[in-house]
Amino acid sequence: MLEIPRKIEAFEGNWRGNAEKVDFFSFFVLTLICYYERLHIRTMNPLSQISRIRQRIARLVRQRQAAERRLLGRAELLKGTVLEVQRTCGKPGCKCAEGDKHICYQLSASIEGRTQTRNVPRKELIKVRRLTDNYRRFRRARAAWVRINEQIIELINQLETARTVDDSSNEPRRKKS
Ligand SMILES: [Zn+2]
Repeated sequence: MLEIPRKIEAFEGNWRGNAEKVDFFSFFVLTLICYYERLHIRTMNPLSQISRIRQRIARLVRQRQAAERRLLGRAELLKGTVLEVQRTCGKPGCKCAEGDKHICYQLSASIEGRTQTRNVPRKELIKVRRLTDNYRRFRRARAAWVRINEQIIELINQLETARTVDDSSNEPRRKKS
């Protein structure tokens, strides 16, 4: 663990000015924090360890409730992404021939593994965007719900380990025959 500050310094020299490397750097730091937290939890005394795990579970349950409010809502969902498409119409003398292209909107969605596209009339644009946003939020909430449950299960396993007493020093009882 003592080597970490030096590693970060060495890393700092390289990532400046490069967005991708900055992202990698944040990931690296987060990984270190998670690793340290796990290490820390293992070396704590069992009671504070148990209360720490319970606090983390309570926090995750609150996050899961927020995701559930989204999942159980009534807002209409529409799968797909609204794309802005520039087009030329082919009419002779039209402004689009000189580069001032027509803009239209399409809804692109993957249905049964195939990308399907349909035109979105201007008057529907705001509604379609709202519904596709709803869909994206729904999918994000669903993914969060799954991830949170996995984290809760992991913490429940840690609770089980922390709460289980060491019984190996006791001789197994034998029935008198
Ligand atoms: Zn045109």
